[in-house]
Amino acid sequence: MTPQTVNAYNYAPFSVVVFTAALLQPPAFEPTQDAALTYGGIGAIIGHELTHAFDDVGRKFDATGHVHNWWTTADDAHFAAKAAQLVTLYSACEAAPGLHVDGVLTLGENIADIGGLQLAYAAYHASLHGLQAPVIDGLTGDQRFFLGFAKLRRGQRRPQALRSDVGSDPHTPDACRVNQAVRNVGGWYKAFGVTPEAPLFLSKALRTSIW
Ligand SMILES: [Zn+2]
Repeated sequence: MTPQTVNAYNYAPFSVVVFTAALLQPPAFEPTQDAALTYGGIGAIIGHELTHAFDDVGRKFDATGHVHNWWTTADDAHFAAKAAQLVTLYSACEAAPGLHVDGVLTLGENIADIGGLQLAYAAYHASLHGLQAPVIDGLTGDQRFFLGFAKLRRGQRRPQALRSDVGSDPHTPDACRVNQAVRNVGGWYKAFGVTPEAPLFLSKALRTSIW
């Protein structure tokens, strides 16, 4: 990657995560912006890359970067069950009418998205040191946190590009990517008062939290 490329990655054989200079600008990061947006933005991306070390591929590497199974059989089974639940959830999302996300192809990215969002949410709350976040423009800190996350994925693609991406890109298309991630995080329900009638509501049994 060049410094000008807006991207980040986790490379398991070297046990590294890399963020480019170009990524460290709005909407992901802005030194003077409200902290809630920063945690929901670059915070969720940092958490995403860290979680990749423990997704369906990264977990096959040990701490020295070698392919080596370091999991107990029971943990392995728990992981597989939760991952299967995520495959079902994401496969149900339509990127366009009739165009379903491939929950298997996108599994690693989806695990990283949800794990990263949980980590960033916990980090944001730790940063408040028990104090109440200010209300800004009528929005609470938690509401701005999740809006900061959604702002990362504003985009438009032609229908043909979307169809091609769904078949080949391991990242879930933007709208499904945001909506499927937040509905697995308990804090999102509290932030917006999401009730069972809401289209994105998931019962607690169907919410998946791996990390
Ligand atoms: Zn990723």
